[in-house]
Amino acid sequence: MVESQGSEQVLVAGPLFLDVVMGPLGHAPGGAANQAVALARLGARAALASYVGEDAAGALVRGMLAQEGVRLDALEAVERQSVTVSLALDGDRAMTSFGTEEFPPLRGPAPAALLTDLRGLAANAEAVGRWRREGTWVLADCGWDPTERWDQGDLGALALADVFTPNEAEALAYTRAGTVEEAAARLAGMCPMCVVTRGAAGALAVAPGLRAAVPAPPVAATDTTGAGDVFSAALAWALLRGRGVRGALVFAVHAAALSTTRRGGASAAPALDEVEGFLAERGAAPGE
Ligand code: ADP
Repeated sequence: MVESQGSEQVLVAGPLFLDVVMGPLGHAPGGAANQAVALARLGARAALASYVGEDAAGALVRGMLAQEGVRLDALEAVERQSVTVSLALDGDRAMTSFGTEEFPPLRGPAPAALLTDLRGLAANAEAVGRWRREGTWVLADCGWDPTERWDQGDLGALALADVFTPNEAEALAYTRAGTVEEAAARLAGMCPMCVVTRGAAGALAVAPGLRAAVPAPPVAATDTTGAGDVFSAALAWALLRGRGVRGALVFAVHAAALSTTRRGGASAAPALDEVEGFLAERGAAPGE
């Protein structure tokens, strides 16, 4: 059973993988763990609502999450750990996954915040609706639709979200809009705020009466895997700490840009002092 404890808890709900990368060799928790690790490195009380294997691979994932300070109490044990194996060569990536994309139904007391995708909201509409009435703040993201149908019906789940953070391609595909501005405006009509990430161009936030575009700081990006996850985790962290929308966007684009200068998904997420140092170095006021 998923139990979220403590009013300060930030719960990330989604599938959990052991990511094994070959060439250069490494392993790390992946999937929803990317956001949970990014939040924990910023100092949030992050918990993960996911299935974890009772096998050796699952023990490895648990150990790495614990070391990162991610709370394990909302994990649910299953027989086998889901695994993703990727082979990175000459800037290209071949990837194969086995295991489940599912994650456990959400139950228990309301966390301070919930991060999950549109599918997670739709599957847990009753629990999330109850949590929201108790004050849970909800960030929704989405992934690339493997069917490429981009069903408008998926967007119905935005009624349960406070912020939606698609990337540019996803926002355009879901809305069939001609421009990112138009896509963001349409999506902002379905939940209180839409924040579209635009890679090296940064991010655009649109809400009723608000439009804020923040460029990403120029960096030598070597691996953009998981940049979107670091962005949404950092945005949630900064908004929950009461930084205004623009301040939170500045913080999130810097955290995500910094993560692209390092290899890996969760392992590339920066710590709070690294983001603050980077902001100071680039002359951006963190709490503006
Ligand atoms: P996703 O990883 O979900 O596709 P994006 O590619 O839009 O999302 O990247 C998310 C965030 O990561 C951007 O808003 C930006 O802050 C940062 N980022 C990504 N690529 C770069 C880059 N080449 N240079 C600087 N920042 C980047």
